[in-house]
Amino acid sequence: MQNPLNEQQVKRYSRQLMIDGIDDAAQQRLLASRVLVVGAGGLGSAAIQYLAAAGVGTIGIADGGAVKLSNLQRQVIHHTEHLGVSKVESARRYVELLNPDIEVITHEQTVTADTAADLVESYDIVIDGLDNFQGRFLLNDTTRLADIPFVHGAIYGFEGHTTVFLLEEPCYRCLLPAVPDDDRFPSGEPMGIFPTLPGIIGSLEATETIKYLLDIGTLIKGTLLRFDALDGTFLSAPIKARPDCPICGPDAIESIDGVDYEGDCRIEP
Ligand SMILES: [Zn+2]
Repeated sequence: MQNPLNEQQVKRYSRQLMIDGIDDAAQQRLLASRVLVVGAGGLGSAAIQYLAAAGVGTIGIADGGAVKLSNLQRQVIHHTEHLGVSKVESARRYVELLNPDIEVITHEQTVTADTAADLVESYDIVIDGLDNFQGRFLLNDTTRLADIPFVHGAIYGFEGHTTVFLLEEPCYRCLLPAVPDDDRFPSGEPMGIFPTLPGIIGSLEATETIKYLLDIGTLIKGTLLRFDALDGTFLSAPIKARPDCPICGPDAIESIDGVDYEGDCRIEP
């Protein structure tokens, strides 16, 4: 049984409590939920600010970087006065000012194959706020092996996409079996990003996460929702499960030991 809402919480969350499907019990469930956001950059900024505002009670934030001037064009929870401060600490200060109901757990680290399983295990759902393929493969594989849903988001240029990888649905490796050999995504190089794009995709990730936690509506699952900021279009395309997927297929591996998450991340059958 969760704690009843206090007077301040009834006021703070009153506008969402007016919506059909979100009652006091649902808000209590949100306050008791634990969400891990991996990456406190552009996607993470948008996700963290709405999760915190909505009253998701525990938000884990994992990032090994510090705030840089070139981040501030799109990473809206970080401020000029936080330049040089770790992103997890900068994010924690943002949430503290926004909503005292929220407990922030900071994980000042770049997630690696050695740390990923321990990192995700105490959370209800994990949000992708990363900017690299290797980290996504690692999170996809780790969350799937740990039976934790994974909310994926990615952005480049004017385009972005999102989907939720639930346990019974195809996974990220069904979408992409290994790191693509593609000039558009040079490994380790900063990419151009339209400033509002991470806000849109990160907000969608937070939306899907809150829906999942409250068990309301229809999730973006089994489909990839793509947004083109230049055209102003959203397109939804099905994600087909790969029968030979090494992570969600019938012959899935049981451990990620030996997978090269610093290379192309491919898992040979
Ligand atoms: Zn798969």
